[in-house]
Amino acid sequence: MAEAVIFLGPPGAGKGTQAKRLASELGFKQLSTGDILRSHVARGTELGRLAKPLMDAGKLVPDEIILGLIGEELVAMPDPKVIFDGFPRTLAQAEALDRLLQERGIRLLGVLLVTAPQEELVRRLLGRAQQEGRSDDNEETIRARMVEYQQKTQPLVDYYARTGSLRAINGLGSVDQVYQAIQEALGVRA
Ligand code: ADP
Repeated sequence: MAEAVIFLGPPGAGKGTQAKRLASELGFKQLSTGDILRSHVARGTELGRLAKPLMDAGKLVPDEIILGLIGEELVAMPDPKVIFDGFPRTLAQAEALDRLLQERGIRLLGVLLVTAPQEELVRRLLGRAQQEGRSDDNEETIRARMVEYQQKTQPLVDYYARTGSLRAINGLGSVDQVYQAIQEALGVRA
C-alpha cells in the first residue's frame, strides 16, 4: 500500500538524520528536497544555478520548482512509500501535496514535528558547518533560514494539527532517543 511520512521542523532539528534512518528501517524512500537541490547545484544544472543564490541567502526556492521536483520523483514510483524530508515548507506546497497524495491514493502515516530550542539549533548548524562545509551553514544564512521557517513553514504546524496528522517529537536528546520517540509516535515496531 502506498504510504508517506512527513518530517517538519526548523533547520538543525535533526530531520535529515532521523528521516534517513526511518526510511532505511521501513524500506521507504527518503525524499529530501534540500538533497535534491544540492545535487543540482553540484552538477551545475540550470535549476542548480537558479537555486544556489537563494539557498546561500537562506531563502526558500520557489514552490513551482519544488513541486516539479516532487512530481517527477513520485511519477517514477509505481507504489510510493516515501519519507518527505524538508517538504512541504509552505502552505502552497502542503496543499499541492494533499492533492498529490489523494490522486495517488497515498496514505499519510503521520507528520512528525521535530523541534529543539533555538540556541541548540544554531549550535548544531554551526557544528555541522565545520564538519560538512555546507555553504548555507554560516551565521548570517542560518538566521535567514530561521526567519523563513518561522514565517513560511511554521503555519504548517496548525495546518497538520487540524487534520490530526501532527505528532510532536522532542528533538533534544540522543539520535537513538529521538528515533525511539518517532517509532512510538508512528506506532511502528520499537
Ligand atoms: P535545513 O532543513 O537545514 O534548512 P534543507 O537541506 O532542508 O536544510 O534545505 C536547504 C535549502 O534548500 C533551504 O534553505 C531552501 O533554500 C532550499 N529548500 C529545500 N527544501 C525546500 C522546499 N521544500 N521549498 C523551498 N525551498 C527548499
